[in-house]
Amino acid sequence: MISHIMKFCISLLLALIALMPFTAGAQSPRTLTSAEIFAGIQRLKVLGSVLYVAAHPDDENTRLLACLARERHLRTGYLSLTRGDGGQNLIGDEQGIELGLIRTQELLAARRIDGAEQFFTRAFDFGFSKSTDEALRTWGREKILGDVVWVIRKFQPDVIVTRFPEDSRAGHGHHSASGVLAREAFTAAADPTRFPEHFALGVKPWQAKRILWNTFNFGGNNTTSPDQFRIDVGGYLPLLGRSLGEISAESRSQHKSQGFGVPSSRGASLEYFVHLLGDRASKDLMDDVDTRWSRIAGTQSIESRIDDILRGFSLSNPSASAAGLASLYKDIAALPASLWRDAKLKEIPELIAAAAGLYLEATSNQPIVAQDDSLTVSMQVNNRSGIRARWISSRIDGRDTAIGQALAVNRNLTVMHTLHVPGDRPLSQPYWLAKEMERGSFSVADPSMIGMPENPPAYTTRFLIEVEGVPVEFYRAVMHKFTDPVKAERFQPLHIVPPVVVNAAPGVMVFRSGQTGSRSLQITAAANTRVNSAAAVFAWGAGDRRQSLGDTAFRFGRGEVRTRSLSVTPPAAGSKSMLMPSVEYKHHGNAQTNALALSEIEYDHIPVIRYFYPDRTTALSVQVSTTGRKIGYVRGAGDKVPEAITELGYEVTFIGEEDMQPAVLRQFDAIVTGVRAYNVHPWLDTRHSVLMDYVAQGGNLVVQYNTNSFAGPAKARIGPMPFNISRGRVTDEFSAVNILDATDPLLNFPNRITPADFDGWVQERGIYFAETPSGGYKTVLGMRDPGESSDMTGSLIHATHGKGRFIYTGLVFFRQLPAGVPGAYRLFANLISNPNAKVNDRK
Ligand SMILES: [Zn+2]
Repeated sequence: MISHIMKFCISLLLALIALMPFTAGAQSPRTLTSAEIFAGIQRLKVLGSVLYVAAHPDDENTRLLACLARERHLRTGYLSLTRGDGGQNLIGDEQGIELGLIRTQELLAARRIDGAEQFFTRAFDFGFSKSTDEALRTWGREKILGDVVWVIRKFQPDVIVTRFPEDSRAGHGHHSASGVLAREAFTAAADPTRFPEHFALGVKPWQAKRILWNTFNFGGNNTTSPDQFRIDVGGYLPLLGRSLGEISAESRSQHKSQGFGVPSSRGASLEYFVHLLGDRASKDLMDDVDTRWSRIAGTQSIESRIDDILRGFSLSNPSASAAGLASLYKDIAALPASLWRDAKLKEIPELIAAAAGLYLEATSNQPIVAQDDSLTVSMQVNNRSGIRARWISSRIDGRDTAIGQALAVNRNLTVMHTLHVPGDRPLSQPYWLAKEMERGSFSVADPSMIGMPENPPAYTTRFLIEVEGVPVEFYRAVMHKFTDPVKAERFQPLHIVPPVVVNAAPGVMVFRSGQTGSRSLQITAAANTRVNSAAAVFAWGAGDRRQSLGDTAFRFGRGEVRTRSLSVTPPAAGSKSMLMPSVEYKHHGNAQTNALALSEIEYDHIPVIRYFYPDRTTALSVQVSTTGRKIGYVRGAGDKVPEAITELGYEVTFIGEEDMQPAVLRQFDAIVTGVRAYNVHPWLDTRHSVLMDYVAQGGNLVVQYNTNSFAGPAKARIGPMPFNISRGRVTDEFSAVNILDATDPLLNFPNRITPADFDGWVQERGIYFAETPSGGYKTVLGMRDPGESSDMTGSLIHATHGKGRFIYTGLVFFRQLPAGVPGAYRLFANLISNPNAKVNDRK
C-alpha cells in the first residue's frame, strides 16, 4: 500500500510548507473557504510559470506577482539577489545579517499573501552601490550568475521578467546588476557548457521562452511608453472577494522593517514590458507558451477530470470533491516524474484536506530543543467532515509508525512520539550563515541549498491517510504551539540549539591610551536543557591572552543563566583585540566546548527567528579625550550608539517628549538624536524651539541622519537655520576624506582629527547628507565615491547658535561605533564634547 506512494524531493516539500498551511501572520494554521478551495482546483489546470528577478526585498512588483499567481494561477517566483542586509531598519536596531533575516521573513510573509514563491542568491546586500561594476565585483560575478542560473534550472520558468534595466535608470548598482545577471542567466541556463556542476545535482539545461523587462514609472523616472505591450493587473477576484490592488498592498505592507505600508487600490492598472531576448511576445507574457496539461504527453484526461471536479463542486459541501481529488492525485502520482507532476502532487493533498475539513498538526510544547535531548511531538488528526478516511501511518525523523485507525467524524485522534535529538544533529542555523562569509557574498557548504529562502524545518512529519480508498501523503512541519494570554494560540517554528550558549558584554570595550586598570568582561552561559556537569570553565581568548575561571557547581536547569566576570587588561596603545568567550562543561558525561551565542528576533508580522554567532567583544585602545559628563539621548528608529557613548565615559539618559523642557535639558552637556529620530517622532518638530533655546543657552545638539522622505525642509525643522536633507551619500568605505578646514573646532577639540581617523571604516561613509545649508552653517569634510567628479560636503555640518552649537551628520556612526572603529570614537567624542565644558582628565 505504501510502496506506490511517490517520494518527494525535499526541496519541493519546502515550498509546500512555506506556501500552504500558515496564514500571513504565520502564527496560526491557514484555513481555506469553499471559494478558495475552488480557486485552488482551478489552479490545478494551469502548468505555466514566471520568474521575476530583482535585487532586494521590496523591489518586486507585488501587483504583477499577485496577478500571475492569484488571478492567472501561474506558478510564480520572485528571485531577490540579496536578502536586504544593507538597508536601514525602521522597526528595531537590527543591522546587517540580522536585518537580512528579518527581510527574508518579510518576503515570505508577502509571498503567503500574493501566492508567489521566494528565492535568493548568495549575494550580500553590502549597502547602496552606485555602479553595476562595483556590485558585480563585490558579489563575485560568476558566483552570483551561477546562482541565478541554478534557480532558473530548478524552477524552469517559461518566462523571466526583470524589474530593472542595465543602466543608471535602475537607480542603484544592485538593481542594474540584477538586470545584467538575469539577461546573462537566460542564455547561460540553456547552455550545457555553463555551470555543468549543477547537473550532478539533478537539474538540466533550461531554455525559457523569453525574458522581458517590466518597465516602471516611479522615483521621477518613467521608462514606460505607449508602444510597449501591456497587461492589466487591476482585476477583481470574486472568489477571494478582493482586487489585485488590495492583495498586492497587503503583500507589500509586509515590508514593515522598511516602513512600506501602502494603500489598497482598485481599478485598472497597466504594467508595461520591453522585450529583451527569446521569442517576442505581442499581446501577453505567455504568448505561445502551452500552460495546460497538454504540455505533458499522455495526460489527455487530466484536464477534463479537473473540469468535472469543478462542475460538481458544492459550495456548501466541498468534501463531496474529496473523492475526485484523491483519485486525481492517484493518477497524477502514476505519471512519470516531472516538474509539473511533482508541483501538482504538492497542491492536491492540501486541497483534499481543506475540502474535507481534515485538520492535521504536528506540534511540540517547547520552542527549542537541545542537541542530545529528547523531543515529544504530538500528531493530531480530525476528520471534521466525515469523509471515508483511515490513518495508515505516521512518519517522523525517518521512522514510520503504523496507526491503522479509521477516522470517525469530528473526533480528535492524537499520537505522541518521543524522539532523541542526536548530539551531532545540525543546529537550526540559517544555512547561509553557517560558514564564514566573504565580503560580498555568503558561503554555502551544500550547493543544493542555494536559492532556498530558508532552512527546511527542524522536523517534518508525514501523515499517510487513506482518503476514499486512496493513500495520500500529507506533510506538516513540527511547530511549537502555545497560547499567549494576549495574542491567543500561536504556532512558531521549532529550532535545534546547543545545550549551552554563551555571550559576553559589553560588545565594545574602550580603553583610553594610558589607562592602566583592567576592566571586567561579563561572560554569560545559558542552558537550553538540564545540564549536570560537575565543573565548567568560563574563558575568553586563546594562547597567552587567554583568561579563564573554573566554576565548580555547573548544574542548572533549562533556561537558567549564569554570569561570571573575567578581567581584561588594556590592549597595547592604539591597538584592538578580540575577546572570544567560551564555556567548557560536560553534558551526559561528554566534554563540550561552546562558543556560540543564540540570538532571537521576534516581531508580530513574521515567525520567530533564531541564529547562532560567535560572540565577540572588541577591546580597543584609543587616544581619546572628552568633555562633559551627561548626555541626553533621543532614541530614533534604533541604533547602538548609546552603548558607545557610555564606553566613552558618559552617563546616558534617554529622553522623550515629556522631557523637552528647559529645566530638564539644561543638565545635559550634549543632546544626541538617534538615527531617523525626526522621521519617527513628529513631536521633535513641535519641540524645535525648546531644543534651539537649549542650544542658545550654551547647549550642544547632535542630530544623526534623517531621511528626506519625511523630514524635508517643509516637514520638520531641525537646525537653527534651514538646510535640506538630500539623498547624497558616499558608499565606498575606503573613499578618501578631505579635510576642508584643518582649524575647524569639530576636528580639533578635544581630539585632533586627521585622515587616519577614517581608516578601517565599515560598509559606507555616510548617507542622507545635508545640502544647500544656508549661510551660518559650516561644512567640515569633503568626500566622493569612485567615478564621481566632485566632493560632497554635507556629511558633517555645524552652526553656532547663541552660546551653543548645532551639528547635523550623515556619517554612519551607528555602524562604525558598534564595529569598534577607533577614529569614529575620536570624532564622535568631538561632536558630543561641549566646547563650553572642561576636558575630562579621567583615565
Ligand atoms: Zn532595491
